[in-house]
Amino acid sequence: MDNDLNLSIAQVIKKYGLFDNISRAKAFGQHFLCDASLLKKIVSCALPLGNSDIMEIGPGPCGLTRAILNFAEKRKVICIEKDKKLKPLHDNLLKYSGANLRFIYEDALNVSVNDLDIGELTVISNLPYNVGTKILLHLLEDLDNVKSMVLMFQKEVAERICATHGTKNYGRLSIISQVLCNCEKCFDVSNRAFFPPPEVQSSVVKLIPKINRPHDLKNLEKLTAICFRHRRKAIYTILKKTLPGLSQNILDSCEIEQNMRPEQISVDKFLKLSNLIFG
Ligand code: SAH
Repeated sequence: MDNDLNLSIAQVIKKYGLFDNISRAKAFGQHFLCDASLLKKIVSCALPLGNSDIMEIGPGPCGLTRAILNFAEKRKVICIEKDKKLKPLHDNLLKYSGANLRFIYEDALNVSVNDLDIGELTVISNLPYNVGTKILLHLLEDLDNVKSMVLMFQKEVAERICATHGTKNYGRLSIISQVLCNCEKCFDVSNRAFFPPPEVQSSVVKLIPKINRPHDLKNLEKLTAICFRHRRKAIYTILKKTLPGLSQNILDSCEIEQNMRPEQISVDKFLKLSNLIFG
């Protein structure tokens, strides 16, 4: 077996015929990054790694994995990949990299961070677009061991995650992400950086779990689901319809004015309101 580390990622893609079946590659959301300096830039967003191990979701032909390994030293690197067809390629990297590396062939949505034999964790991924939001929401469910997450999304999704109240992209995804993490957009990535280029642009986002975060988001999820169904209406009108017993005092104690629209209400105020109404 020849050492693939002597090949570029473009050559690896060719060697293993990863795009021999385009519709299959599409179904897995496979758009691969081949530019080593860009891959390094993504990993740099996760520095310093401290004592954390690393999890990558969707290693594909391992461009990002190679960049991670350059910084990983003796840290464990665990890669979760849904497409089993990539195993021979991964076996080659296992054989030649000499790294503390492991591949798990599973849908990331079925993997719980708790079940992995790892300590503190940094998550780094160029997420498949079709399930990017779903995977983020899954990761947000269990942040106890997570130091930080550096994730690439479709640009519009990245902007929704990081949006502040009072802006057009602000909504449920912003609130759920920001109540749990400090979220920051690191940089945009042109679609031309991928093979094959997707139709959409991308952005890298860094999420750092907050120390004091709510343990149960049920109330907040319930409230934001009600409110953002009608994002153009006034909050009092929306809530009065669903919760006839609602008193103005509750809004007052959260410093929310009757005529404010959901998109004008900050994350902290939503959290407080949800606990007062449903808590
Ligand atoms: N990290 C590589 C590949 C990114 S493309 C790079 O940056 O070039 C997305 C990768 O995620 C593909 O390898 C795809 O097979 C994998 N993938 C798609 N859905 C997945 C899921 N639900 N769980 C884990 N991996 C998934």
